[in-house]
Amino acid sequence: MNKKILIVEDNPQNMRLVEMALSTGSYTLLEATNGEEALEVAKKEHPDLIIMDIQLPKMSGLEVTRKLREIPEFTQTPIIAVTAYAMKGDEKKALDAGCNAYLSKPISARDLPNLVAKMLARRQEEKE
Ligand code: MN
Repeated sequence: MNKKILIVEDNPQNMRLVEMALSTGSYTLLEATNGEEALEVAKKEHPDLIIMDIQLPKMSGLEVTRKLREIPEFTQTPIIAVTAYAMKGDEKKALDAGCNAYLSKPISARDLPNLVAKMLARRQEEKE
């Protein structure tokens, strides 16, 4: 079965870029444009991996990540933090919040799919 990837991103152009970058993999892509929606979609669709924009309206991606980690089902789900305006300390903040990896925008059409594939494979090994 195709792995499900939830993309949390409030900017439609960035959403499109991430989807394009992942289009060569046979993934089922799910979208959420804010934190509340991300939590709803995650609970309903059980994604295998989550790509989390940190700058979101109202609830930040870091808060969404913390909330997800409180839910037993999502304690081990790979979460990749993505941020524009990357500043010193951002990576540590993302990792401290529970993200597993960190990418700064602009998203590389090569790095993102590589990282996604690597993290899905690692998670699969852990489950087996
Ligand atoms: Mn954003």
